[in-house]
Amino acid sequence: MAHSPSLLEVAQAIISPPYPTWAAAGIYGVFVLMVLLLSIVLPGTIVEGQPFPQAWTVPGKPNRKTYKLNGLLVALSLYGIYIVGGLLAIWPLTLWADHFGDLAVFVFLVVLALSSYLYVSAKVSGRGHFTASFVHDFWSGVELNPSIGGIDLKMFALKLAMTGWILMNISFVAKQYQLYGFVTNRMILYQLFTFIYMFDYYFFENAMLSTWDIISEHWGFMLVFGDLWWMVFAFSVQNFYLLHELQPLSNFSVLCILGLFAIGFTIFRISNYQKNQYKTNPNQPLIFTKGKPETIEGRLLVSGLWGVVRKPNYVGDWLIAISFSLPCGFSYLFPFLYPIYLITLNIHRAIRDDEKCSEKYKELWKKYRQRVPYYFFPKIV
Ligand code: NDP
Repeated sequence: MAHSPSLLEVAQAIISPPYPTWAAAGIYGVFVLMVLLLSIVLPGTIVEGQPFPQAWTVPGKPNRKTYKLNGLLVALSLYGIYIVGGLLAIWPLTLWADHFGDLAVFVFLVVLALSSYLYVSAKVSGRGHFTASFVHDFWSGVELNPSIGGIDLKMFALKLAMTGWILMNISFVAKQYQLYGFVTNRMILYQLFTFIYMFDYYFFENAMLSTWDIISEHWGFMLVFGDLWWMVFAFSVQNFYLLHELQPLSNFSVLCILGLFAIGFTIFRISNYQKNQYKTNPNQPLIFTKGKPETIEGRLLVSGLWGVVRKPNYVGDWLIAISFSLPCGFSYLFPFLYPIYLITLNIHRAIRDDEKCSEKYKELWKKYRQRVPYYFFPKIV
C-alpha cells in the first residue's frame, strides 16, 4: 500500500552504519581502480587545455596540459559492468545504497588524507604557491594542476564525482525495486533527469577545460571535498525520500516537472554552447542567431542569451536543479538540498566572477555591465 516516508525512516536510511567499514574501503577502492583502468584502456579524444595563467607559466616548459577525454565511454562502461554484475548476482545491485552511510564516512577520510598529501607534497617539493595562512592554503589548495603518476587529479576527480553520483542513483532504483517490487514515477523522473545531465556533461566534456575550476582554481580541500564527497553523497539525497515515497505523481505534475526541466536544460545548454562557440571561433554565427556575433570590442559576447542577462547558464542550471527535487514533493526541505546549494554557490560565484572580470577587462567590463545590466533575470536582478 502507498505511504509517505516518516522523517525517522529517511534519517535511518541515511545514517546506517555511521562509521567507516572495510566493505566501504573495498567498494570505493574497486570503484576508483575501475574508473582509472577504464580511463586508460578506453579510447578518447586527445585535446589541449587552455594556457596556464601567468603565475603558473614556467619559461621553457609547455604552458598547457594535454588531456584524453573519454568520460562518457568510461561512465557508460562502468554502469554496464555494475548492472550486469548485479544481475548475475556477483554483487548486489543495491551495493552503493546499502553502504551509503559507511561509504560517506570513508570517502570523507579519503578527502582529508588526499588534501593533506597535496599540501605536504607541494611543500616538500617546492611546487606550491603558498600564502601566510595555513587554513587558506589547505582549504583552497596550493597547486593548479597536481598529478600523481602522470594522472591529472583535477580531471580524474571530476570523473569520480559524476560517475559516482549516477552509480549511487542506479543503486537506489534497485533498492526501491528490492523493497517494493516496483519503481515509482517519481523515482523514474529523478533518474531520467540526472542521467541526461550526466550524459550532457560528458558529451560536452571538452567544455570543462575552459571552466573556471580547471583554468584558475587551485586544487585543495574545497574542490577535493566537492568532487569526491559532495557530488556523490549530497547531490543524491533525493533518493532517500524517493525510496519510500510510493504515492505516484499525477500526470499533470509529471508534465509540469518535465516542462520545467526542458526549459532549464534548453537555457543551460544553449547558453553554455554559445559561450563555448564564441571562445573557440569568435566569428562564426552562434546557434539560434544569425551573422557574426555582437561583442563589446571583440572580447565580450553580447549576442544570444549572453545579451539578455550576464549569467544565463546559471539560471538554466537552477531550473534543472529544482526539477531534480520536485519529484519529492514539498513535505520536507531536505530533498531540496541540491538546488539550495547550487543557487547559493552560483550567486557567490557570480559576484566573484564579476570582480575577476572587472579586473581583467577593466573599461570593457563596465561597458558590458551597462549593455547587459542584470545578472540573472531581466529587470529584476
Ligand atoms: P561561466 O561559464 O559563466 O564562466 C565565467 C567566465 O566566462 C568568466 O570568468 C569569463 O572568463 C567568461 N565570460 C563571462 N561572460 C562572458 C561574456 N559575455 N563573453 C565572453 N566571456 C564571458 O561560469 P562557470 O564556469 O562558473 O559555470 C559553467 C557552468 O557550470 C554553468 O552552467 C554553471 O551553472 C555550472 N556549474 C555547476 C556547478 C554544480 O555544482 N552543479 C558548480 C559550478 C558551476 P574569461 O576570463 O575566460 O573571459
